[in-house]
Amino acid sequence: MANKPKVAIYWLGACAGCDEAIVDLNEAILQVVETVEIVLWPLAMDFKYDRIEAMGDEEITLSILTGSVRNSDHEEMARLLRKKSKLVLAFGACACFGGTAGLANFKTREDIFNWVYRDAPTVVNPETKFPQTETRINGKILTLPEFYDHVYTLNQIIDVDFYLPGCPPPPDLIANAVNAVVSGDLPPKGSTLAPRSALCDTCSRNKKKPSRMEIRQIKRIHEVEADPDSCFLAQGIICLGPATRSGCGETCIKTNIPCRGCFGPPPGVVGAGPKYLSALTSLIKAETDEDIREIIDSIDDPAGYFYRFTEPTSILGRKMPGKQMEE
Ligand code: SF4
Ligand code: SF4
Repeated sequence: MANKPKVAIYWLGACAGCDEAIVDLNEAILQVVETVEIVLWPLAMDFKYDRIEAMGDEEITLSILTGSVRNSDHEEMARLLRKKSKLVLAFGACACFGGTAGLANFKTREDIFNWVYRDAPTVVNPETKFPQTETRINGKILTLPEFYDHVYTLNQIIDVDFYLPGCPPPPDLIANAVNAVVSGDLPPKGSTLAPRSALCDTCSRNKKKPSRMEIRQIKRIHEVEADPDSCFLAQGIICLGPATRSGCGETCIKTNIPCRGCFGPPPGVVGAGPKYLSALTSLIKAETDEDIREIIDSIDDPAGYFYRFTEPTSILGRKMPGKQMEE
């Protein structure tokens, strides 16, 4: 036991889907548990944080952190585990790029509190009380983490050694990542532990793409019966494959759902959104400016579409109190 690498698995602003993906390794998880000593994993085991605080710096070989950083508790744990770990792996789209939780950057903290604690139809809060970081009750002080005005990626808060994207990451890439750490056969710091190609390069539908693609109308997936073999884009359905890293196993494509971009952009692409927009606009075929505008306007919630998993990494900006969203 003493010589086994110590591993911590911890969720920040996460939905637990990433933790479930680790559990779903099935028999392979038994092999992982055999080869490493898990020192923290709130989803599966009862460990106390003060045990982590008592550990020496870099005593943990690997911390696997899931989720984005949204509050002071997330930040505190991310910093603690960074200090105690030799290696930190940003695990899943939320840790790598902010994930779907990052879409909250289109709202301010005030917008979110007003909706969640005052305006949502199911809320009963006659005194309009909002959560406070400190509340005094019967001479005692109850504390809550501070809810930040911004959703951060993990590397916007701490130094990250490796990235494993996906929502959640697929089993083969998880097993490869753990094996790489256990064997010490690691790629250079900062690497993403997934293929370097774009999803379109590996997609089975790519071969059936027409040599010249033209989009004259954008259709939403629920509005049509999509052909299960043809490229979605060729059918006028938005698919983020051209601007997304491969490695997911095409789970969505195989179930006739277009790619939504959870693996983030391929290497060398700074923003998934602009890359995708340029790919899409080069395919749009229209005779007049008005026709172009009509096609573009038919994309419902373009910012939410093109930045579904990556808003906190984007150059798009965010909603500021009292200002209109930068477009
Ligand atoms: S990446 Fe997906 S599965 Fe993982 S925590 Fe975020 S939303 Fe959940
Ligand atoms: S756009 Fe989508 S469906 Fe078409 S080849 Fe790329 S990943 Fe496959």
